[in-house]
Amino acid sequence: MIARKEVELYSRYPLSSIVIYNGITVLHYLLGGVGIILGYNFSWSAYLLGSAYLIFAFIQMYLIMPLTVCPNCVYYRLQNSLCISGLNVISKKIARAGEIKDFPKRGEGLFCHNNLYMAAKIIPIIVMIPALILNFSILLLTFFLSVVGLMLFRVFVVFPKIACIHCRAMNVCPNAKAMGINKGS
Ligand code: SF4
Repeated sequence: MIARKEVELYSRYPLSSIVIYNGITVLHYLLGGVGIILGYNFSWSAYLLGSAYLIFAFIQMYLIMPLTVCPNCVYYRLQNSLCISGLNVISKKIARAGEIKDFPKRGEGLFCHNNLYMAAKIIPIIVMIPALILNFSILLLTFFLSVVGLMLFRVFVVFPKIACIHCRAMNVCPNAKAMGINKGS
């Protein structure tokens, strides 16, 4: 469990945190999508797979999340708030308010948003492994290691030190619970 007694909870995350969070997210998807296309030699099926991945990744993050998860989040209702992704602002414009008690539903069921979110991070890593065996190149290896690095940076630095540790939703968030940072508040 991470001790967070003196850690401030943010109603508005600093711009630097929001830029880091969205920056590594967008970079992960772009490097993943281009890595898939590169890994399968720019064939039509590579373009199809890479494009399908990119569409899925961006839609689950920047459309499905504000439509289905954010309306139940405390940041949706908090006046003048700005969450780690800034998606609470978009959610308010495109979705009706939900219920905070439903927020944990983000982690329930096979096709819950948590699983879509994780799939968008893991898919390019898995898809690039056979490509590395079949069509190895230093460039492809660089894409692969960059995506793995972004994943590790997200899990070990961004979640526990920049995002979740300052989040006002941590007490009802299944992700914070899984990381052990929802206690002691
Ligand atoms: S903190 Fe809340 S409003 Fe922001 S992205 Fe996460 S669920 Fe949506």
